[in-house]
Amino acid sequence: MNKIFTKKIIIFTITSFVLIGLVYTVSLFRISPDKSSIDFLDIGQGDAILVRQGWDEMLIDGGQDRSILAQLGKTRPFLDRKIEYVVGTHPHDDHVIGLLDIFGRYDIGEIILPRVLADGQGYIKLLEKAKKFNVPVMLVSAGEQFIFGNMALTVLWPEDDCLDRLKVLDASHNEHDPYNTCSLVMRYDHCNENGCRRALLMADATSLSEELMMADGTITQADILKIGHHGSRFATTSEFLSVVKPKDSVIQVGEKNNFGHPNYGVLLRLKNISSKIWRNDLHGPIRAVPEGGGFRVGP
Ligand SMILES: [Zn+2]
Repeated sequence: MNKIFTKKIIIFTITSFVLIGLVYTVSLFRISPDKSSIDFLDIGQGDAILVRQGWDEMLIDGGQDRSILAQLGKTRPFLDRKIEYVVGTHPHDDHVIGLLDIFGRYDIGEIILPRVLADGQGYIKLLEKAKKFNVPVMLVSAGEQFIFGNMALTVLWPEDDCLDRLKVLDASHNEHDPYNTCSLVMRYDHCNENGCRRALLMADATSLSEELMMADGTITQADILKIGHHGSRFATTSEFLSVVKPKDSVIQVGEKNNFGHPNYGVLLRLKNISSKIWRNDLHGPIRAVPEGGGFRVGP
């Protein structure tokens, strides 16, 4: 081996180590333990929300296709291959199909599903994947809490008798899909030296879920509201908004979707309370970061 060739190999090796070190340091710097964020990923028509606190992450839904992979690639530090918790709020395709593609690409700590919907049709493939990749499944209901440093995610809904509660209601409630009405609603609470802030993540909850949750006393004011059911006319009543009073509202909705989401009436109701509206179809991915006494929200 001649000397010039050996020198080149040494330079290449040193450069590689320096580069790897740099990337690793930058990656660590980006994630301090106090750093928290909520990313409303742009995955077309569907929901996908990545909540972070330091190194810990919870992915709430994964959209309806592989778009989630590109979004996670852009949003997450690539050296962190683990997503601690993956939540399927309810067994509809636009929430769980995208989740099937993350198995094998990321280490998943635990799958979380609402207990009352655990045997729902749309969860079959997700449960098969969980079994194949040895990922434990945790069934939850209202009251369950996940604490990460100075942030907590609390399950507000559904209770284990959610489907039974719907059966005894009169026919006027039949327009609501029971999977939507019993989908998993979470509350994000984050506190630091500047105060506390709150976000309400409504999944595809309907006006009926809102009514039942308000009757149970679980709905309070929140800085950010992830609007229920992609801004459909079946959710986000004026009564509900008068309790939540969100400063910012996020609608996870795809461009030119077939459902007419978001509904004009919902947009009007949000305008009436002067809530700033963020939409994935118009703004792309939306990020909320704790700042001052509230959040900084933006594309
Ligand atoms: Zn949906």
